[in-house]
Amino acid sequence: MRFISTRGNSPAVSASEAILRGLAPDGGLYIPESFPSLDMSFAPSYRNLPELAAFVLAPFFEGDELEGELKTMCQEAFDFPAPLHYHTSKESVLELFWGPTAAFKDFGARFLAVTMEHLLRKRGERLTILVATSGDTGGAVANAFHKREGIDVKVLFPEGKVSARQQKQLTVLQDNITSYAVRGTFDDCQKMVKDAFMDEKVCSTYHLSSANSINLGRLLPQMVYAFSSSMEVFSKTGLKPAVIIPSGNVGNSCATYWAKTIGAPIHSVSLALNRNRTIIDYLVTGTYTKRESIATLANAMDVGDPSNMERLFALYPSYEQFAIHVSAMSVSDELIRKTIAEIYEQTGYIVCPHTATGEHMRRNGDFDRPTVVYATAHPAKFETIVEPVISQEIPVPDQLQELLDKEQHYSTIDTDYHLLFR
Ligand SMILES: *Cc1c(COP(=O)(O)O)cnc(C)c1O
Repeated sequence: MRFISTRGNSPAVSASEAILRGLAPDGGLYIPESFPSLDMSFAPSYRNLPELAAFVLAPFFEGDELEGELKTMCQEAFDFPAPLHYHTSKESVLELFWGPTAAFKDFGARFLAVTMEHLLRKRGERLTILVATSGDTGGAVANAFHKREGIDVKVLFPEGKVSARQQKQLTVLQDNITSYAVRGTFDDCQKMVKDAFMDEKVCSTYHLSSANSINLGRLLPQMVYAFSSSMEVFSKTGLKPAVIIPSGNVGNSCATYWAKTIGAPIHSVSLALNRNRTIIDYLVTGTYTKRESIATLANAMDVGDPSNMERLFALYPSYEQFAIHVSAMSVSDELIRKTIAEIYEQTGYIVCPHTATGEHMRRNGDFDRPTVVYATAHPAKFETIVEPVISQEIPVPDQLQELLDKEQHYSTIDTDYHLLFR
């Protein structure tokens, strides 16, 4: 399979090439030239996530230099589960937070790190990864790439706009990982990364690559749990579920749309947003206008200019198509708190502020079939928000506690990408 740029001005490349480059040379994002159609009659025989991953990802690596290593890579990358928690037989939560940094981004980051390590080893090359993070990306990436041969990582996060525990995950690793607190917003961080990529001298000197959710190597593995969860619900109920996804840069949603396109038994995909409502404004007005990001309780979704929109527009180019496939709801901080409290009172289950946007949408969205809400992070990462709401302490998972006990190392810089290369 070949991958082309959303902007149409770059040569088609293999999956490996797209993953190493991150952004296409014309500034666009890589998308499949055409989508395969999986024969789902084979799918139920896959017993675990790594096996299902190899089945789902096989067409995307067909003819690729890593084709022969895909199974091994899936074994290495998918080494933690993605279980469904059932509130009721029709309402479930896909727990994507059992990885090392307790958020769904571990799935993408680990697969990307494993892929890049295999590739660089094969080619005898080195590279530098730039990653801008609004909270969870950087932690997942730093953790996934820590001590991997041939790779240096620079992590950028907006100063004072990530939670204390998120910041810990971004700053305690050292070795091949360097962390920067940027005096600006997440969008500023993202722009610095984009600017560095557009600077040819910097780009070639440092052999830059990205690990943001724009990287194809992050997106592809996120299709796997869209398959595993929808297949489980479909086999239990005979109905294709409506999937509700707390969204920011719409990487998770995009991967789920791709999964649906190639055959996952998904009825519909809905985007739960915080007060950053760029996508809803588009649905309402028909004109797409990016916004400044607004700070909310669900801070990993504080995005005014979602970077994967280009991919969604490539999938649904006209407004009419987009409006048929994409529905969205904006959830205020007040409703996030209210939803966390309600779910805890009614079921004893604790959700993080991001997951709460999805739960709110499920409760207010008129779904006439089974629903799956993606639980994108463990609530213990956002204890300062969640604990006062439920008047209860949240037990910290072991892997988080280990990071919290370490010392932070980072520098604080202005919004100029040159400062990353001193
Ligand atoms: C990154 C993140 C999101 C948003 O995911 P996108 O793929 O950027 O839409 C939601 N929740 C949490 C906890 C996250 O870390």
